[in-house]
Amino acid sequence: MTNRLLNKVAIVTGSTRGIGRAIATLFAAEGAYVVFNSHRFDDAAAEMIATMDKDRSLFIEADVSDPASMQQLVDQTIARFGPVDVLINNAGMDVFSEPLEMTPAQWQRCFAVDLEGAWNTARSVLPSMLGKGAGSIVNIASVHGHKIIPGCFPYPVAKHALIGLTKSLGIEYAARGIRVNSISPGLIMTDNVKNWLNSCPDPAAETARQAAILPCKRIGTPEEVAYTALFLASDEARFINATDILIDGGRSQLYHE
Ligand code: NAD
Repeated sequence: MTNRLLNKVAIVTGSTRGIGRAIATLFAAEGAYVVFNSHRFDDAAAEMIATMDKDRSLFIEADVSDPASMQQLVDQTIARFGPVDVLINNAGMDVFSEPLEMTPAQWQRCFAVDLEGAWNTARSVLPSMLGKGAGSIVNIASVHGHKIIPGCFPYPVAKHALIGLTKSLGIEYAARGIRVNSISPGLIMTDNVKNWLNSCPDPAAETARQAAILPCKRIGTPEEVAYTALFLASDEARFINATDILIDGGRSQLYHE
């Protein structure tokens, strides 16, 4: 590895599985002190704790939808490793419904996790970053923040808003050394996506269909998203602010074949 984040202090929310796990693992390999997180202590959390360097990482159980918990997470991070350099707001959940069939609880949970979770954590971390005059925040949005797939309501509403939060905070604090960007992944082969594909009547056919609709004819990997997060988190991206990087193999630019 190349120490692209050597001794930087990074928080990655929702990082015991999937994309977040790939980001936390890559950041640790690139020399960062990493706080990784989930709203629950489960097998995935235990496995992640077992693989990470205990002197340079810390697992904190906290739900991003709870502002007080996220303040505690940030306070614990600073107490253990010092001021935070990087925040990756990755924790998120699919809430997919037909709009009129959606329950009020689904709407509330979607916004509490997919939008407010990022703000709760950013709000807790920003005073420390502003004190240092430096910091990089990366929000994991989605192609659903750019395009609409019917039947996925209200997830795309929250992801559009997350991109809005990214731009807004990026401008608010640009002159004080803070950068805020987002990444919009397309379909990424996480365990969740594998489980969904396996639940389809013909998993192989659905996997092939999903790959075929992408211009590059394959589904993305968590590591590919992690490398984009690494670049945005690092000083290499120091003139990149208040923008979004789509990582979807070009799918969202395709009109039709
Ligand atoms: P995942 O379900 O595999 O992992 C989510 C992680 O977040 C887990 O560690 C889980 O424990 C944690 N988490 C969930 N709710 C939480 C909460 N309230 N507080 C703290 N932690 C919580 O998810 P994934 O597919 O890796 O997705 C990660 C992010 O990427 C999400 O924001 C998702 O919307 C976005 N995304 C994923 C894809 C994809 O194809 N996988 C595509 C576009 C965007």
